[in-house]
Amino acid sequence: GPGVDGAYDVLVIGAGQAGLAVARELSRTGLSYVVLDAQEGVGAAWRHAWDSLRLFSPARWSSLPGFLMPGGEEEYPRRSEVMAYLAEYERRYGLNILRPVRVQAVIRNGEGFRVETNRASFQARFVVSATGTWDAPVIPDVAGRAEFRGLQVHSAFYRRPQAFAGQRVVVVGGGNSGAQILAEVSKVADTTWATLRPPTFLPDDVDGRVLFDVATQRYRAQQAGVAFSAPSLGDIVMVPGVREARERGILHARAMFTRMTGSGVVWPDGQDQDVDAVIWCTGFRPALEHLAPLGVVGPEGRVQVQGTHSVRESGLWLVGYGNWTGFASATLIGVGRSARATVGEIRDAAGRQPPSEN
Ligand code: FAD
Repeated sequence: GPGVDGAYDVLVIGAGQAGLAVARELSRTGLSYVVLDAQEGVGAAWRHAWDSLRLFSPARWSSLPGFLMPGGEEEYPRRSEVMAYLAEYERRYGLNILRPVRVQAVIRNGEGFRVETNRASFQARFVVSATGTWDAPVIPDVAGRAEFRGLQVHSAFYRRPQAFAGQRVVVVGGGNSGAQILAEVSKVADTTWATLRPPTFLPDDVDGRVLFDVATQRYRAQQAGVAFSAPSLGDIVMVPGVREARERGILHARAMFTRMTGSGVVWPDGQDQDVDAVIWCTGFRPALEHLAPLGVVGPEGRVQVQGTHSVRESGLWLVGYGNWTGFASATLIGVGRSARATVGEIRDAAGRQPPSEN
């Protein structure tokens, strides 16, 4: 495993699709780089997704630059297929990745940065943070939450329904994670769905490919300064499991409970309900703790950027995370554009000429 300190032109933090796309672009420049990733093996956040997870878009629309995910236009890839694809992407481009290495702090040091990890410390002229959101799950601050004696799991750690067989379970959250987890847990457990707002469902024929097309049109219109009014279609994609749950009549949400007790939850009408487990499908925020020493992380947990470039720290870029670092940059199909732009800027900053393409 890694143990040596090193000095690089560029240090990339995170080897999910965002870090890999950046690394592949860097490998085509003359710049030295390394990618540090906290996980034991390939796959980044996809290692931890639930077993039954499938992508929203067919393989062709879920690919990184240079190499299409196998599976074509009809198959919605499984979690394991995404992991295999990312593994092949690393291998094919011979990307320089060290695992498991967790970056603890990025600190200004002369013209560049000192990057401190649990294994060694590194020096780099430029840093790209591509740490995603999986390492920073969000659970709302509900009164009494600490008193609850039952099981609480965030969707980040949920794997399969069997663990909840025969139990009384509240699934919290009106997004895709909530709907998909509710759909499968409700087959083995007595479930209640709790959401802040009534959930909204997309038409059955809308998948990730359609959403991406609509978002692309909106983005292009914005770039051109043209009005584009497509109504928000809804939040929840009707994947087969969720459609099946609708047939069983379980896609009904209650307004979020107001507090928790030792044995359960209290609903807005004052009714107490005993429950065995609560599954929090309540989202994530950007995993940016390692940037704290730079003082660039704002109150919303984001860094102010122009494109992907930190406004305040000239040697720092952020790729992935969400639309705030670039259009669709938190998707497999969208992150390539952000990665390419980022490496272009780094190459300019490094004052090097691009190598000849061949
Ligand atoms: P990640 O995959 O999270 O990779 C970041 C890596 O950085 C991880 O390995 C992490 O451990 C590591 N890391 C974090 N902090 C540190 C640190 N301090 N030091 C070292 N390493 C660190 N997108 C699609 O395109 N299609 C879909 O169908 C789709 N479905 C999704 C379903 C779910 C349930 C979720 C949650 C997301 C889905 N996404 C989908 C969105 C997106 O593609 C994923 O969230 C994806 O994992 C984002 O990739 P990333 O590279 O930005 O981050």
